[in-house]
Amino acid sequence: MERTFAIIKPDAVERNLIGKILERIESNGFKIAAMKRTHLSTTQAQGFYHVHKERPFFNSLTEFMCSGPVVLLVLEKEDAVSAWRGLMGATNPEEADAGTIRKDFALNIEKNSTHGSDSAENAAFEISYFFSQTEILS
Ligand code: ATP
Ligand code: MG
Repeated sequence: MERTFAIIKPDAVERNLIGKILERIESNGFKIAAMKRTHLSTTQAQGFYHVHKERPFFNSLTEFMCSGPVVLLVLEKEDAVSAWRGLMGATNPEEADAGTIRKDFALNIEKNSTHGSDSAENAAFEISYFFSQTEILS
């Protein structure tokens, strides 16, 4: 059993897509081990995306992530990191496979509805960035 970290991004929360995305998560065999709805501060978003700080889209991305509420999730499943990235689809929805969350819901490469950790190491960092041990119930 592996854990990954997911975010339902502001564009999806704003369009009332929380339920539809959670339905896909649960029907694909993930357990939701922790969940909270919150509004990220600029400091939180910049710290979370620090690996992208030299990228041209960093300011726009962090502003977008603070533009409205998000849902933070800890997901559990066998091979959860790659399974969740597969369910999300490619970063750019125009390149995402049919049936993926980003293909079906994302607006563009930035407002792409969900986040998923890209490795088990980053998942551990991202989970601990937002959740304390006592908030995660397997
Ligand atoms: P995430 O980390 O959100 O799961 P990802 O791993 O598929 O997405 P990254 O390369 O880590 O993609 O980029 C992080 C986020 O930055 C993307 O999800 C998207 O919101 C935004 N982003 C990535 N590339 C671009 C770009 N070229 N222009 C604008 N925004 C971008
Ligand atoms: Mg990423």
